Amino acid sequence: MSSQEITLGWELELIVHLQPGEEPGLALEAHKLRDLALTIAQQAPNLPIAAHCIHRPSASCIICDDAPAEHRLPHVRVVNPATPIRRPSGPIEDLYYFVKREHLNVPTDDDGARLAHGYEITSPILSHAELSAGLPQTRQILGAIRSSGLTISAHTECGLHVHVGVKSGMTLNIAKKAATLVMLLELPLLKKFASPERAERRYWFIPISTKSEFICCADRVHDEVTDAIASPELRQHVPDLSKQKPAEWNNNEPNRLHLALNEIWLTDSIWRLSKGFFSYEGQKASLVLCTRERNGDSASEPSRGAPDSLEGTPSTLEFRYPPMSFDIDFVKCWAEIGCKIVELATRDVAAFRQVATDLLKELERNDASQWERLLKVLDLNHQVPFWRQQLARFEDDEPIRFLDDDGFLVPERK
Ligand SMILES: [Zn+2]
Repeated sequence: MSSQEITLGWELELIVHLQPGEEPGLALEAHKLRDLALTIAQQAPNLPIAAHCIHRPSASCIICDDAPAEHRLPHVRVVNPATPIRRPSGPIEDLYYFVKREHLNVPTDDDGARLAHGYEITSPILSHAELSAGLPQTRQILGAIRSSGLTISAHTECGLHVHVGVKSGMTLNIAKKAATLVMLLELPLLKKFASPERAERRYWFIPISTKSEFICCADRVHDEVTDAIASPELRQHVPDLSKQKPAEWNNNEPNRLHLALNEIWLTDSIWRLSKGFFSYEGQKASLVLCTRERNGDSASEPSRGAPDSLEGTPSTLEFRYPPMSFDIDFVKCWAEIGCKIVELATRDVAAFRQVATDLLKELERNDASQWERLLKVLDLNHQVPFWRQQLARFEDDEPIRFLDDDGFLVPERK
């Protein structure tokens, strides 16, 4: 039953608009990034904050020209320093709430010049203790964004991405188990909680259970999982899937899903598993296995024929299902869901099989309250009241909270 400690991080994508009279196009992109980073840093003086600079190869840029020299690093302005300011190796992003440019769909004028700019804020690596405490630092960041005085918006193409890692290191077995739970939960639960509007966008919502390489390859050769091709590991971890009936959760193609799960469990390396999650059109799907080297840098492809050395690395599972939100409760619920899936995946075979069995039992009963029972199996029953409210907001055509009628972020009431 023992499970391992998990870590998490998030990415929030948002848009900062120009003021009337400000120059359209790219001229003010760096200025707005600077304004966003400085206002967050000022409002959250206790948190480590940094901004992505544009000053290399020059010594400084508009983002950092008034910063002390020790806060100007290659590509980076440190606004509120962490202790130490940086580690000798590994990505500096692991230490800071980081403000960066992000390519997002923004409004333009008649000449196609941008009237707003896209940004992303990423968190440092957060502990499970931070999650258990209700993500107080994240609450502070969201509050600072809402009180920034900048004109901010977000639409459902802007994402909230949750990264989940395992403190002792990601393993192939954990990643397979997490992906298995995702395959069961993606359509009946994760899709529902991502808002209908986002779920309809084919480039921003890409389920691995319907669009991944695994799904595509699974049925190229076989019609069903026979004894000859069956993964013994899948059989160990999940009860027999060969008698499943067509239903929402398996996209009415139970054999196809079974074949894809079998492919997942036959995969022999973390690198190849991460490739199999990609869409068959070559895009990142809504679940990504972010492969990282031991020091946290992005992993590069192992040379042909060589095994990867990604076992036990800080590789993460990235949940890219939900739209951006300025609502701490929405972010918290999604963080908990991602963390719970990975935490369950760290449990031993018997405990994991029990969870899979319980989920399958609920999946067979497809009715209006199925999602509530699935949350209960995940031991996330406390989220039910939140999601009742949130699903009603989705119904009311409010996929993202705290936006006014024109789509701009409303300041927080103190
Ligand atoms: Zn700079």
